[in-house]
Amino acid sequence: MINLDFYSSLAIFIIIFLTLILGLWIFSAKARDKKISLDERFIWHCAVCTYAYVNTREPAISVCPRCGSYNKK
Ligand SMILES: [Zn+2]
Repeated sequence: MINLDFYSSLAIFIIIFLTLILGLWIFSAKARDKKISLDERFIWHCAVCTYAYVNTREPAISVCPRCGSYNKK
């Protein structure tokens, strides 16, 4: 029979707890990335060449990757 003292069981509990937190954090981060890539706010339509592109960095003005013109929301 395995005899566990208080600190050993506490250490095992903390390791399991941290693994769970880390797993949940990675899972939520992945779900968040998916949400951002599908968000319509980040899909831009160029007024000059009608090219559709995704830009998550600029909220108001972005540069078209195809023709280089500035687009405003
Ligand atoms: Zn363009």
